[in-house]
Amino acid sequence: MPIPDASTLKKRATIIAAMREIVAFDNVIDDIDALRPYESDGLTAYRQPPMLVVLPETVEQVSAVLRWCHREAVRVVPRGSGTSLSGGALPLADAVLLGLGKFKKIIEVDYEERIAVVQPGVTNLAITQAVEGRGFYYAPDPSSQIACSIGGNVAENSGGVHCLKYGLTTNNVLGVELVLMDGEIVRLGGRHLDPAGLDLLGVVVGSEGLLGVVTEVTVRILPKPQTARAILLGFPDAERAGACVAQVIAEGIIPAGMEMMDKPAIHAAEAFVNVGYPLDVGALLIVEVDGPAAECDHLVAEIDRIAGENDAVTRRVSNNDQERLSFWAGRKAAFPAVGRLAPDYYCMDGTIPRRRLPEVLSRMEQLSEEYGLAVANVFHAGDGNLHPLILYDANKPGELAKAEEFGNDILRLCVEVGGVLTGEHGVGVEKRDLMPEMYNEIDLEHQHRLKSAFDPLLLLNPGKVFPQLHRCAEMGRVHVHGGQHRFPEIPRF
Ligand SMILES: Cc1cc2nc3c(=O)[nH]c(=O)nc-3n(C[C@H](O)[C@H](O)[C@H](O)COP(=O)(O)OP(=O)(O)OC[C@H]3O[C@@H](n4cnc5c(N)ncnc54)[C@H](O)[C@@H]3O)c2cc1C
Repeated sequence: MPIPDASTLKKRATIIAAMREIVAFDNVIDDIDALRPYESDGLTAYRQPPMLVVLPETVEQVSAVLRWCHREAVRVVPRGSGTSLSGGALPLADAVLLGLGKFKKIIEVDYEERIAVVQPGVTNLAITQAVEGRGFYYAPDPSSQIACSIGGNVAENSGGVHCLKYGLTTNNVLGVELVLMDGEIVRLGGRHLDPAGLDLLGVVVGSEGLLGVVTEVTVRILPKPQTARAILLGFPDAERAGACVAQVIAEGIIPAGMEMMDKPAIHAAEAFVNVGYPLDVGALLIVEVDGPAAECDHLVAEIDRIAGENDAVTRRVSNNDQERLSFWAGRKAAFPAVGRLAPDYYCMDGTIPRRRLPEVLSRMEQLSEEYGLAVANVFHAGDGNLHPLILYDANKPGELAKAEEFGNDILRLCVEVGGVLTGEHGVGVEKRDLMPEMYNEIDLEHQHRLKSAFDPLLLLNPGKVFPQLHRCAEMGRVHVHGGQHRFPEIPRF
């Protein structure tokens, strides 16, 4: 992480006093024990208590906090619910952690326009809960939806099972209110699609808290589909499951969700929830279709045919909602289920072209043997988004480092086969130093210029996304021998 700024640390008391001038006394947390809950996010391998936490309640307060920090060159890390799996909300020792947890209001729901205007601290699931009485829902459904905030979803461009058909966060957000680092309040997008001018909203969604602080979000809400049916398909191996996925999409069917689990994940899930998953298969697909009943019946028959053509050995179709939910129960519990196999696991997130899946899985198996660490695989198969879960024991010296190196090799493999470093969890701290695997110096330079256009002093969420030592060692320009950097006293960015 960037080296803490000594002059900022020296004026901590002044910063605390200034923040208490802007927000209520109790909304500034400075006691070391009270700061502990904020020291990490969902990527718990990394921890750093923040310098202090500030919890504003109005956009004017957010603006005043940022304006003050900008003037005094104090760094700021925005935080929603802290469920990021890439360390995006990891605090810095010399930064204000700006928590948006008090922005909890659903401001407006307009059923005619099919939009909801919400504050950033509202959880993803709370949006659906607010509109489901009228038969509507908010489509992107990260597994963390009970806890993660819509502001965090915007920052990470989050996805979920239903994003194959209904799009990611970026496809479901129509507008945001954003506070820039100098305190300026701007509005991007609005209540309708495609506003005029440059697509700055598109730039902000997925910008991982580096460009501005989101203080209001306008999302699209959709009528709930009349029917949903799921098909459970078992295949002898991942190769044939992958071929089935490719054929379903190639034939023009876009299921509402299409998820795959490999053998270790199937066994772990079945032992955990006992829903009757077949244990003699090498890969399991759960495919869901939704819409009018007649359309669902037709699509189910088509998918069943395609599965047969790809040698599926188990083909079960849900006949009621209870059965459909039981098909999903194991997939939804896959992470905690895998958590029972080892003291710790490391959840990766990379994306590959769907047709390369069998090859990537077999190379992952080889890597698993080389590193001596088991891996279970759960994926959003329709999007080619992999979530390998690397099993390790943090109490064994060196195992965390080994798991991280294994994870890095998996992400390098994703890029090598034409995929990308992340599907939905973001780059954050976790994948920051792998960015040069995917982007060359010119690409990174352009990304830096974009960041600088919003935040020229680089005060907002520094140390995330952009590789450290940018332009030096990772670019191959500086030879680093035995881990010893030349001129260590020179600050690196
Ligand atoms: C068990 C589990 C399952 C998960 N499943 C999924 C999944 O299926 N799909 C998926 O996409 N993700 C998943 N995640 C990851 C995580 O939930 C998402 O990335 C989520 O969007 C983070 O939201 P948050 O409110 O917790 O944000 P935080 O973790 O608090 O912050 C995440 C990033 O957003 C920035 N940020 C937060 N709020 C704002 C704001 N108001 N303005 C500007 N920047 C902001 C932060 O600076 C940080 O960079 C999962 C996480 C867990 C723990």
